[in-house]
This record gives sequence, C-alpha cells and structure tokens, in this order.
Amino acid sequence: RSKDAGGGVFHAYEPQLHVDAEERRVLEMALRKALDRGELQLDYQPVVDATSERLSGFEALLRWHNPEFGTISPAKFIPLAEETRLIGPIGEWVVRTACEEATRWPDDVRVAINVSPEQLHNPNFVAVVARTLASTKLAPHRLELEVTESVFMREGTGAVKVLDRILELGVRLSLDDFGTGYSSLGYLSRTRFSSIKIDRSFVTAAAKGVPEALAIIRAVVALAGSLGMATTAEGVETSDELTLVRALGVSKIQGFYFGRPLPVSEARALAGRTGPAFRAA
Ligand code: C2E
Ligand code: MG
Ligand code: MG
Ligand code: MG
Repeated sequence: RSKDAGGGVFHAYEPQLHVDAEERRVLEMALRKALDRGELQLDYQPVVDATSERLSGFEALLRWHNPEFGTISPAKFIPLAEETRLIGPIGEWVVRTACEEATRWPDDVRVAINVSPEQLHNPNFVAVVARTLASTKLAPHRLELEVTESVFMREGTGAVKVLDRILELGVRLSLDDFGTGYSSLGYLSRTRFSSIKIDRSFVTAAAKGVPEALAIIRAVVALAGSLGMATTAEGVETSDELTLVRALGVSKIQGFYFGRPLPVSEARALAGRTGPAFRAA
C-alpha cells in the first residue's frame, strides 16, 4: 500500500506485476492451451453471514496450474487473458463450471463469479449466462456476478446495458473491491447491485486504527443500507477484524479467518454441513 504517486492511501495492495515481452509471449501460448488441457480450476472461498455465521455462499476464484510454470496467480493471467481476448472462452468456462457445481450445494448457498469488463462489452455474454442457467437449472438468484467499478470507465453504455439484461435474468450483481477504483456514486443509482464488497485494504487499515478507513467503512455501510444493498467485508483474517466489521454492521464476511479458497471437494463438503460457526468443525 503506498501513499505516494497520488494513488491514495487505500489502494488495494497489488504488487506491480512485471511481465516482460518474452515472458508474456510464452505465457500467452500456454494460456491458449490451458483450457483444452484442463489446467484451469476453480477454488471456492466461503462467504459467511455476519450475524448467524452461517454459510451464505462461495466466491469462485480461478486457478491456473501449469506443469511447467507451476500455479499462476489470477492477478497475473487474468490481465493477459483480457488483452488477448482469451477471457471470452475462459469466462464462459468459469460460468458453466461454477453454476454446475452450485447445483450440488444446498439451495440456500449462492455462487459468486468474477466478471471482467471485457466480458461485459461482449453482448454474447448474456446469452452464455442465460443458456447456462437453463441447462443447469440453477435458480438465477443463486448466481451472483462480481464486477468492479472499472466496468463503468469505458466509453459508451454497452456494459451498463449488458448488466441490465443480466439483472432481467434474475441474477444478482455485486460491486467488487469498492473504494479502490474511480468510485462514482452514480453507478450505484444506475445499476441495481445487491451488495457492495468493501475492499480488504479498508478492513486491514481500520483494524490498525486508521480513522479514515473506519470512517469510510461506516459510510459505505450506511450508504448501502439506505440503498437496500448488503455489504461484504473482504479479507477478514483475524478475530479483531471480524469483531470490528461486525460492530460496523457489515452483512457478510469473507476472508482467511473463515476460510481460504478451497478445492471443489472441500467446498462441497463444507456446503453440505449445516448450522452456524462452521469454522469450528
Ligand atoms: P477478488 O475478486 O477481489 O477476490 C478476492 C481475492 O482476495 C482472492 O485473490 C482471494 O484469494 C483473496 N483473499 C480472500 N480472503 C483473503 C484474506 O483474508 N487475506 C488475503 N490476503 N487475501 C484474501 P485471488 O484468488 O488471487 O484473486 C485475485 C483476483 O483475480 C480477484 O480479486 C479477481 O479480481 C480476479 N479473479 C479471480 N478469479 C477470476 C475469474 O474467474 N474471472 C475474472 N475475470 N477474474 C478473476
Ligand atoms: Mg471478487
Ligand atoms: Mg474483491
Ligand atoms: Mg480484491
């Protein structure tokens, strides 16, 4: 996290990812084959109701296991996939895989999927979601698409229209990493989000006693509440952070405290368990 370069204090901590031209070319070739070779995988991180501590759902997080390069972080290959248009087929695979998996969980457990702006500028994406819901018979309200503020940065209203058509399907939308991009409250009135995800950088800073971070979380929770939206605190790692965000009134908790992203079989086992405080089990 840096205070310099006019970046603001609370920019999400993202190490500057340096991929030089040669590394990029090699990775791109490997990524083109990754889908066919079954190298992509989704892990599922639990999202927990702040009050009852019941499992509310899972966020599907993409993993790339390459025999030559090992496991590659999505922070590295998602941007590459976006630049090379591979995000289309990869994103489609994510939608299908996550929806199919969610049909194996109890009816009250949701699945959240991350969607890149590039996917939302492709009108075909709506058809992919609609077709997947029809073929898997997953109830649309059990699917949540996470988008970031960057979706609204591009020229034109294409993405906003795609989001409207997704909402018409009965699918939920959440605003991811809120506060780290070029936030405009206009987005919140234009598109009906079910929830706002408060970025980990605010949670961490607030728990360290940074008053501005505390004030921002408080304001976001109040704003979301008055707009009828829920809030999710991202990156809750410690019981101190849990106690704090709970006291601030967030609706849902996600983070290593309750669970890391889990392989599909472990997530399935967790989904089948009932009752609160599942972390103790
Ligand atoms: P995100 O959507 O904000 O996902 C949350 C990230 O925070 C995940 O990183 C997760 O592993 C990490 N995280 C969760 N809890 C904690 C915690 O308590 N402490 C810490 N330090 N980290 C925590 P991951 O899996 O590396 O994903 C990074 C980003 O890559 C995601 O950020 C998302 O923007 C993107 N991404 C992941 N999967 C997909 C995908 O299927 N499609 C697209 N388009 N983007 C994806
Ligand atoms: Mg996300
Ligand atoms: Mg996030
Ligand atoms: Mg994030």
